[in-house]
Amino acid sequence: MTVDSIAAWHDAGPGVTRSLELAHRSLVAGGLPVGAVVIGSGGDVVAEGRNRAYDPPGGDDRLQGSPIAHAEMNALARVATSADLSTTTLWSSHRPCAMCAAACEFTGVGRVRFVAPDPSDDQPGPDPIGVDGRWLIVANLLFLAGIRAYSGANAPMLRRARDREPETTDLLDTVAPHQWRTATLPDALGPIWSHVVNAAQRRQLRVGG
Ligand SMILES: [Zn+2]
Repeated sequence: MTVDSIAAWHDAGPGVTRSLELAHRSLVAGGLPVGAVVIGSGGDVVAEGRNRAYDPPGGDDRLQGSPIAHAEMNALARVATSADLSTTTLWSSHRPCAMCAAACEFTGVGRVRFVAPDPSDDQPGPDPIGVDGRWLIVANLLFLAGIRAYSGANAPMLRRARDREPETTDLLDTVAPHQWRTATLPDALGPIWSHVVNAAQRRQLRVGG
């Protein structure tokens, strides 16, 4: 990584970095790149999960291969029924869907935060508050790299993203699939970090604020 990207990574906090690491792990495993982590009030990792609905069998997630194996559900499936989650924050790389949001509420998660709007959502909604726009770019780069890997560059979701998130799809076009196959996410981000920074700046100008 570059000096700048190392500093940014360390400043991002465990909710952002861990959820993105898990999304990257999904991408490398051939799954849908979404990650989620439950963080305790002291910054400790209580539980974590990644989307396991689509990638090849393996691992020990109970929900693997089922339509409810979303990242947030897999994280919550690792929490004991008796656990008090009221002081925890569930971070997801993407805005939780209705099922996962309901599961967070049902299990008493204290706060829910996310890094980026979900590119697959018909109603992507507003950007998350208080999240560095560079991580929003990274979250959607990972997600869309996954879509490109399974469904091809002309997948309807990618075509739609070219309208909605042109800075991200422009950058995606310059990153070859093999460049994501690194041991850690920072290893993959180092070579493209200046482009991530640039994309975040251009996106900020487009959306205003
Ligand atoms: Zn979900």
